[in-house]
Amino acid sequence: MAERITGHTELIGLIAYPIRHSSSPRMHNEAFAKLGLDYAYLAFEVDNSTLEDTIKGFRAMKVRGSNVSMPNKTVVHKYLDKLSPAAELCGAVNTIVNDDGVLTGHITDGMGYMAALKDAGIDVIGKKMTIVGAGGAATAIEIQAALDGVSEISIFNIKDGFWERAEQTVKNINEKTNCKATLYDLADLDVLKREIESSYIFTNATGMGMKPLEGKTYIPDTSFFRPELIVVDIVYSPAETAMLKMAKEVGCKTMNGLGMMLFQGAAAFEMWTGKAMPIEYMKEILDIKY
Ligand code: NAD
Repeated sequence: MAERITGHTELIGLIAYPIRHSSSPRMHNEAFAKLGLDYAYLAFEVDNSTLEDTIKGFRAMKVRGSNVSMPNKTVVHKYLDKLSPAAELCGAVNTIVNDDGVLTGHITDGMGYMAALKDAGIDVIGKKMTIVGAGGAATAIEIQAALDGVSEISIFNIKDGFWERAEQTVKNINEKTNCKATLYDLADLDVLKREIESSYIFTNATGMGMKPLEGKTYIPDTSFFRPELIVVDIVYSPAETAMLKMAKEVGCKTMNGLGMMLFQGAAAFEMWTGKAMPIEYMKEILDIKY
C-alpha cells in the first residue's frame, strides 16, 4: 500500500454505520492493486446526522465516488444532483459517482444480481420470476429485473412494515416497465407453490436463512421445487442456507448471494474507474464459490 499511494491517488469512500466489518474495502483495494489503478477505497463511519456534511466534503475534495450503505441508502439522494433510473425507482442509492462536480446516485445491487445470474449461465430475460422480499436488496433486484426484461415477477412478502414498499415497487414496475408484477402475502403458501410452479427462477431476497434465522426457511417442503427450477438465495453467510440445501436435494441449479455481492461491487468499480473488475482473480482471492 505504501508504494501505491501517491499525491495523485484518488479517494473512493464507503459511508455507513456500522461499517467496520465490511469486505468492500478489501475487494476494491485488491482490484485496484491488481490492475495498477491509482485509487484507494476507505470506509467511513457516517450516519444520517453527518451525511450532508460528508457529501459536501466529497464535493469539496473532488472525491471520485463512494458506496453508501445503511442507514444512508434511502436518504442520500437529497444531497445528490442526479439519480439513475433504477435508483429513482428503488428510492435508494448504494453508489455515488462524481463526474467533475456532478454527483449521480446509482443502485448496483440489482445489477449485481442480474450479472451474477449471467455469469452462472442463467438467462432470465423474457421469463417469469418468483421472489420473496420487499426490503432494500429485494426492491433493487425486482426493479432491475423488470428494467432488464424479465417478463413477469410474482413478489411475496410477510405483512410487516415492508408491505407498503412492496406495493409501491409493484406499482412502479407496472407503470414504468414492460414487466407485469403482482404482490402476494407470503402466508398464502398454496399461492406461493402455484407461482413457483409456473416460474423459471425462484429467489429468496430476505434475511431468512441467516442469523438470527439461520437454519430456517419459509418453504415447507421439497414439493415446492422441481429439478428444472433455478433457486437463488441472496444470503451469503452461510454460503448454503437451509433453502438452498433443500433445492439441491431436489436437483435444482442453485446460486448463493456471493455472486451478487461481487458483481454489485464490480458494477460500481467500473463506474468509478472505467475498467472492468478482474472477476476471476477476485473470486480466487476472496474464495467465492456459488
Ligand atoms: P431489509 O431489512 O431491507 O429487508 C428485510 C426483508 O426481510 C423484508 O422483505 C422483510 O419483510 C423480510 N423479512 C424479515 N423477517 C422475515 C421473516 N421472518 N420471514 C420472511 N421474511 C422476513 O434487508 P435487505 O438489506 O434487503 O437484506 C435482506 C437480505 O439480503 C439479508 O440477508 C442480506 O444479508 C442480504 N443481502 C445480500 C446482498 C448480496 O450482495 N448478496 C446484498 C444486500 C443484502
